[in-house]
Amino acid sequence: MAGANTRIATPEQAVARIAYLASDVVVSVQPSLASDSEFSTHLKQLASRKEPSLVANASDSIPEIQSVRHNADPLLSVFTPIRSGRLVSVTTTSSILLPSVAHLYKLASFPVVIHVALAPKNSPDYTAITSIRNTGWTFLQSWSLQESQDIALTAHALAIHSGKGVIHFFDPSSGAGAESIEAADADVVRAILNLDNVRRFQSGPISGSEIYVNDGRVVLASEQPEPLAGGVQASSNASEVEVEASTITSQSSVKSSQESVTSSPPSVSTATTIEANASVLTSDNIYKYVTSIWAKLSELVGRQYNPFEWIGSTKAENTVFLFGSDVALISNTIANAKSADAFADAGLIVPRLYRPWLGAKLIEALPKSVKRVAVLEQVSRRTTKWGPILIDVLTSVKSAVGGVETIVGYQLGYITKDTVKPALSTVFQNLTLEKPVQNLEIGEREAPQEASGYDLVKPKLESSYTKILDQLFGSRAFIANSLDSDNAGISSTISATPEYGFGSLLARKEKKQKFIAEVQEAASSGTFLTEAPKRALAKWLSIANDAKKSEEVAEDVVSKLSLDNSRLSKTFLQNKAFLRKQSLWLVGSDAWAYDLGNSGVHHVLASGENVNMLIIDSTPYSERAAADANRRKKDIGLYAMNFGNAYVASTAVYSSYTQVLQAMDEADKFNGPSIVLAYLPYFGEHESPLTVLTETKRAVDLGYWPLYRWNPENENKGKPNFSLDSERIKKELKEFLDRDNQLTQLMRKDPHFGAALAQDFGTEVRAQQKRKAKDAYNQLLEGLFGAPLTILFGSDGGNAQSLAKRLGTRGRARGLKTTVMALDEYPVEDLATEENVVIITSTAGQGEFPVNGMSFWHAVKDSTELDLASVRYSIFGLGDSHYWPRKEDKVYYNKPAKDLDRVLANFGATRLADLGLGDDQDPDGYQTGYSEWEPKLWEALGVANVDGLPDEPPPITNEDIKIASNFLRGTIAEDLLDESTGAISASNAQLTKFHGTYMQDDRDVRDERKAQGLEPAYSFMIRCRLPGGVSTAKQWIQMDDIANELGNETMKLTTRQTFQFHGIIKKKLKPAMQAINRALMDTLAACGDVNRNVMCSPLPSQSVYHREVYASSVKISEHLLPSTSAYHEIWLTDDNNKKTQVGGNAVQDFEPLYGPTYLPRKFKISIAIPPHNDVDVYAHDIGLIAIKGSDGHLVGYNMTVGGGMGTTHNNKKTYPQTGRMLGFVKTPDVHIACEKVMLVQRDHGNRKDRKNARLKYTVDRLGVEDFKAKVEELWGQKFESAKPFHFDSNVDTFGWIKDETGLNHFTFFIENGRIEDTADFQMKTGLREIAKIHKGEFRLTPNQHLILSNVKDEDLPALKKLMAQYKLDNLHFSALRLSSSACVAFPTCGLAMAESERYLPVLISKLEACIEENGLRQDSIVMRMTGCPNGCARPWLAEVAFVGKAYGAYNMYLGGGYHGQRLNKLYRSSIKEDEILEIMKGLLSRYAKEREQGERFGDWTIRAGIIKATTDGQNFHDGVAEEDEEEEEA
Ligand code: SF4
Repeated sequence: MAGANTRIATPEQAVARIAYLASDVVVSVQPSLASDSEFSTHLKQLASRKEPSLVANASDSIPEIQSVRHNADPLLSVFTPIRSGRLVSVTTTSSILLPSVAHLYKLASFPVVIHVALAPKNSPDYTAITSIRNTGWTFLQSWSLQESQDIALTAHALAIHSGKGVIHFFDPSSGAGAESIEAADADVVRAILNLDNVRRFQSGPISGSEIYVNDGRVVLASEQPEPLAGGVQASSNASEVEVEASTITSQSSVKSSQESVTSSPPSVSTATTIEANASVLTSDNIYKYVTSIWAKLSELVGRQYNPFEWIGSTKAENTVFLFGSDVALISNTIANAKSADAFADAGLIVPRLYRPWLGAKLIEALPKSVKRVAVLEQVSRRTTKWGPILIDVLTSVKSAVGGVETIVGYQLGYITKDTVKPALSTVFQNLTLEKPVQNLEIGEREAPQEASGYDLVKPKLESSYTKILDQLFGSRAFIANSLDSDNAGISSTISATPEYGFGSLLARKEKKQKFIAEVQEAASSGTFLTEAPKRALAKWLSIANDAKKSEEVAEDVVSKLSLDNSRLSKTFLQNKAFLRKQSLWLVGSDAWAYDLGNSGVHHVLASGENVNMLIIDSTPYSERAAADANRRKKDIGLYAMNFGNAYVASTAVYSSYTQVLQAMDEADKFNGPSIVLAYLPYFGEHESPLTVLTETKRAVDLGYWPLYRWNPENENKGKPNFSLDSERIKKELKEFLDRDNQLTQLMRKDPHFGAALAQDFGTEVRAQQKRKAKDAYNQLLEGLFGAPLTILFGSDGGNAQSLAKRLGTRGRARGLKTTVMALDEYPVEDLATEENVVIITSTAGQGEFPVNGMSFWHAVKDSTELDLASVRYSIFGLGDSHYWPRKEDKVYYNKPAKDLDRVLANFGATRLADLGLGDDQDPDGYQTGYSEWEPKLWEALGVANVDGLPDEPPPITNEDIKIASNFLRGTIAEDLLDESTGAISASNAQLTKFHGTYMQDDRDVRDERKAQGLEPAYSFMIRCRLPGGVSTAKQWIQMDDIANELGNETMKLTTRQTFQFHGIIKKKLKPAMQAINRALMDTLAACGDVNRNVMCSPLPSQSVYHREVYASSVKISEHLLPSTSAYHEIWLTDDNNKKTQVGGNAVQDFEPLYGPTYLPRKFKISIAIPPHNDVDVYAHDIGLIAIKGSDGHLVGYNMTVGGGMGTTHNNKKTYPQTGRMLGFVKTPDVHIACEKVMLVQRDHGNRKDRKNARLKYTVDRLGVEDFKAKVEELWGQKFESAKPFHFDSNVDTFGWIKDETGLNHFTFFIENGRIEDTADFQMKTGLREIAKIHKGEFRLTPNQHLILSNVKDEDLPALKKLMAQYKLDNLHFSALRLSSSACVAFPTCGLAMAESERYLPVLISKLEACIEENGLRQDSIVMRMTGCPNGCARPWLAEVAFVGKAYGAYNMYLGGGYHGQRLNKLYRSSIKEDEILEIMKGLLSRYAKEREQGERFGDWTIRAGIIKATTDGQNFHDGVAEEDEEEEEA
């Protein structure tokens, strides 16, 4: 524990440290969650050093720091922990005290300590303290750095000792400039706190939580008598204490409020106390406790403290009684007074213990010589004639027998070193007058401006909703409680509350009525100079309440009034805002407009007024369970719906942007109160959008935050009031709907909701399912003989699962009773009853368990009672010893298997066979280790030598699936009809790829759904076939409709120049396919082991030439299409399986090109038009380089073969490769040449190993010449020699360009191809608006951007206007960002190991400052990222690339060629953001300094010796910068 050596520099630091040491929970009140308070920085430092609390039950526990915004009702957070027996303290400024007065009354009876830094900082106002003096707390104050530490400690000791609340207040600037002090020694702190009392409190949580009774703790000291200062014995007799109390309270009322009990105030403590025997504390008790604490402190540290501190001569006749912060200034001035000064020889007395007020002690502290007392009160907002301190002093001193003759009150303002003397002179001159003037003001009234505590700030994130209001209603939107509204004289804390806003709205509505009345009068008899205003106003009156019409007319009225120039016109113009129907909004938000207790909602509902309320809820889903019960939100939506008269919507902008628009629009139109609940979960104001997004998705997906709209007006139109816009709802809402009969209506309308609705949120369904499944299986096994063998697996990729299943089959063949199931499906409590258990598990991420083994592992690991003495077991693990190459990361290799092996042994289980480890690096991969392990297992089970074992069926491969599929039919059609699951079978999932769709599941919610016992959130990705990426404007709108109505409201423009939709659920899959077909596109062969979408450079600069080349891409694509009719049969027939919707192609069940097994692997073709290599022509199975003839027209293509990107981490047999040149082909022959290359691959590609099946491996195996010969043989023609060409880049050129025909083209920057709307950027809407008027076409680029093509000059202005309106013309990005590209990865891609599309933009933002610093903003560096080594964004050709290795970790590659001509090479493995930034910053600054003229980053990294060049894919793994450490040592 930091002790004597730590130095303390400020009072806040001293106080924060003591609060930290003496509490279980510290509630840190902060300006906002993102900005620290003067206390919280120190609290966080202590917590980050893991300093233990001295009062915690466990010796190493650190206290919990709860950060609460100052305007979020902070003291509410104290109740739950203090009632559960945890010591709580609060660090805050004084600004929260008055608004918290109701809590203060209740909390006074608990040993809570509130440390208050008085505000404003340089001239604190003590009104905050005097106003709460009667709330029943003990008040202590300190005036210096040293005192702040000692009195803070006293406050905690006193709270613990007395069981009552203590407020310690101080002026934070009082320690300014003082020398630092030593931190209190931990032993001293312990001794003062008295840990026995602490334990007594902690051991007895306080039952019940009545808020209207005095439910606090009673005095702790009465339970344990102990010697007090001076040897006085504390009273241990409760009744004696009570007698004392009642004696005093029976005295005069003035006295009872001042010198009575310090327990709860009279209003609650006597009338409503339910504990008959509750003892109460007298002021004497407090005095005794505090003096005993001070006596001990004095003994230990030598400093003395008293309830009243006297400073000055004991012979003084005149004295100041100061209640303010300038103690040192005044006492020094008096001490240094000259004899002529009016204040010479005066004294100074200050109250250290302010409440309870001990009048008798004041008299004791005053020397007998004192005749006159000047009471200086530093209170700026006095509400009574006499200051509260003056009354305290008067009643105490006057009634005492003594020599004080005169007591005069002063109001103390701001004084400084320069003004203190004249101020004191005035005080004393007046004091010694015969008739002194009362209430004189001393010092300046106004201190120099300083922040008055905490300022309100609207968090940036929360503006996403208010921006939508702006967007929807424009100038009609009026937020009554917005922070920038002008409310003279009202503090922003108050004017930002919805309650205040509501009042001002009502006033505004009254004004509008008045305005209408005035208009009515003016329209008939007003005195205008012209006639026009009258007519205009009369017209306006007739439509005044219609938002749309009044908007249209308003401008006209304004112009008529402006021209008129009469006085009446001018008056109306001053109020012209009333001419438009305003959309009136109140905002309730956690951060800037705290709707205390939802009273704003209540007011709005009860009023029935046409007012809209937007309530932003920012509690993250993952925190909701941990949230303090008292702070948990009530369900406002339910509350409002129960009211019956209101429009209610529950929305989440990060889940459905269009639903928010719809809800706000409906709320605006609804004639009555509307409540729009808006979800925006975040932990701090600067939260990354990714966290907000994933938290939102979890909450919506699991029904915690359902999306719905409730419109009571619908009933009149015969429609249901309730519309559910998400899939699941929570139990409470379901009950409400049940009651309201809405659910029945909803289910009738949409029966598929039945399953989701019937399954209550948070039930124990899953546990029951597990038990049932296992019992059923056990029953099945009964009757079989042989030893039981339970095989459990944890598997992400499927290998462990197949091994387990095969082991099960082999076990059964050996006569064993085998059960095979996933780890997480197994009830852990049964483990002890098993005889033989085998576990096969793979390794995920950084040595983690696979998803379906995670909860099993946690249950086993955390178990305290598993006894496995009678269990025999063996574990086999699958891992990769080189996955984490650094020495310190070796522990991750097969970690789950090793951990399980150790833990089961610890629980007493016996090993059947030693732990087996499968390593991907072994010659046969994991099979090597497995084939050693399995025989040992049979040996141990006594079934090693069994005769007549049947032959095992070979494993089912993709090739088998293709053959059995009947030309890609499988049972897809049947699967689509099965409503019991959102999934399709595994083999159909393989087949649907050939139809252009992949089954995926939302990985953001995978774990959460699993925990709820739900299947993954399955949905489908659909990829269109769009050769060359050319789409009409009409098709764009059709694609946009599909995304909105059937997908997840976004589209992805892919690296293969096509549209991709995500989040299409099974029942919408067929409608989506049909909609795509109606748009004259299809999805056939967009994925699968066939030729994929054929790419073509979009070439906006030469449209005529582009047309010629593009025609080849369409021709090749059509020529190589599969012929199966399954596609039409499955997707394009109606539900009666009859009508073929759009036929088109001739159909036959015969594949002339592909045959029944199609290709061994996917096959990709791209066409580049030099000098642009934007398609990355070398990255494809076939690369075609267009060659222009001397007449400017296309003559043919140079053809390369065997390029490809996909690899597997650490598998050196896999590598990326660039295409090798075969030669030149004339344009009319090119589709045939492509076909022949494809056929050679069909027949010679490796069908045994999918990891070695791409054309690149075939070409390398056969050699380029041999391969070429095979193609030529099939083709019957020879390739000509390749023609010369030149490439200069592989990135896009943004902005406007004019082609050779005079048509215009604009390349938009679409970051990573994602077309979506956000509150800040309505890109998707903007592009749709553009498509509505665009007469040309759109071209999708291979870098995932978009070109608006073929715009005539005359159409430019309208398009440019829309582009500017939607900010689509913005190209002010760094060249690094413009040259970047990322694949989709999380949340939809099943192969993703790390984020990509959602993370690369964030990473680039973090690099941009460094880019600027080094003057590289305009320098294009090709940077790419993918979530896995499959390489969808072609990372291996980038100058710098990051490829996902595990969540948050990437392999880094350097040295790619700028125009895609050279592969890069591994530079670092598994690095995380910190390292990435550090490395990149170093490289960028070196590159800026060292590069030669025109030298590209990738070339420089090679010249500078940072990385070796990869000259061929086959040396991709050689000479990497970071060799495996083990190999280096070998
Ligand atoms: S590169 Fe990997 S993670 Fe990225 S989209 Fe392709 S398969 Fe998914």
